[in-house]
Amino acid sequence: MIPYGRQDINQQDIDAVIDILKSDYLTQGPQVPLFEKTINEIVNVDHSIAVNSATSALHIACLALGAGKGDIVWTSPITFVASANCALYCGADIDFVDIDPATYNLSTIALEKKLKQAAEKNKLPKVVIPVHLAGQSCDMLKIHQLSLQYGFKIIEDASHAIGATYQGDFIGGCKFSDITVFSFHPVKIVTTAEGGIATTNCPKLAQNMQSLRSHGITRDPNLMTEESHGEWYYQQLELGFNYRMSELHAALGISQLKRLHEFVGHRATKAAIYDEKLAKLPLTLPYQSDATQSSWHLYIIRLQLDKISKTHQTVFNALRDAGILVNLHYIPVHLQPYYQKLGFKAGDFPVAEEYYKEAISIPLFAQLSEADQHHIIQTLEQILL
Ligand SMILES: *Cc1c(COP(=O)(O)O)cnc(C)c1O
Repeated sequence: MIPYGRQDINQQDIDAVIDILKSDYLTQGPQVPLFEKTINEIVNVDHSIAVNSATSALHIACLALGAGKGDIVWTSPITFVASANCALYCGADIDFVDIDPATYNLSTIALEKKLKQAAEKNKLPKVVIPVHLAGQSCDMLKIHQLSLQYGFKIIEDASHAIGATYQGDFIGGCKFSDITVFSFHPVKIVTTAEGGIATTNCPKLAQNMQSLRSHGITRDPNLMTEESHGEWYYQQLELGFNYRMSELHAALGISQLKRLHEFVGHRATKAAIYDEKLAKLPLTLPYQSDATQSSWHLYIIRLQLDKISKTHQTVFNALRDAGILVNLHYIPVHLQPYYQKLGFKAGDFPVAEEYYKEAISIPLFAQLSEADQHHIIQTLEQILL
């Protein structure tokens, strides 16, 4: 069986975790700050807040930006449910912006149109969460320009995109956003088993997210409402959570980051092989904008259903029957039963729904072997020609 994605763990990664198991701190030690510093240096940002998942990072990012009851958050319907759920955790309302037919990222044309209409109704979003699908950056320049015009904040959901660049800069530098979030789930580019991080250049947002990840508690005398009672003293200033990353996870992350560029390089090489070998099949291959270099978290093909006699499901099943564990990223979030109960319905975001009828993620990961990739290409040829 060939999975659609999987982690790459070497002996150094294993040793790094074992070293921590033998050390004084399993949590709240030096590894998490070191992991954060490593991320700061890689993506060129001032602050990082490591947490136990990207979902947690999205939650505290929304809270830090003030999303709450009566506020509206917008994201893409073609994403993992966490990009939308984070708004609901805060009591805010969620809405979606349809995708671009070429990149499958949130469409800036649809965004601008929806903002114009929202401004007339006085229902502008407080936060917009663009998602860098498959590791290709959204059109951040345009989204940032619209944020200045319409006064919303931006969280980049870059769960797929560590190691990717936009206009030559690594994603996560927050040049065109307030906060960027990465995921370190095992299928993503680098892993901490479970884990996520929020990056920002704003000291106030950083401090706020640090507080929220650990119960809303501070030990910093400068932040306290009264003089410290002594060495034991801390204050809870707001309602936070236990979203901390452990030392084991951070040590794995530090070790993994040493190979970040290698991983992305392997993925890009394999994506280029797909680009070449699949070009003649009745498929739409991933479009890449000149402004971006993808981290190639996913390789998404779209079936040109008018040119083949099989259905989406038959092709999907035939691949799985051949031992190729293809997947589909994603079921449009607004079509989930939970979101339908909130009032969303089929037809609301037609470009996303059209995409869903044709998309398949084929295996792509750093250690995908030449033989396995050949098998995938051959199987696709057999099914489609
Ligand atoms: C994986 C993923 C998340 C959630 O990441 P976790 O670390 O598993 O919480 C959020 N958004 C997107 C786009 C993802 O792919």
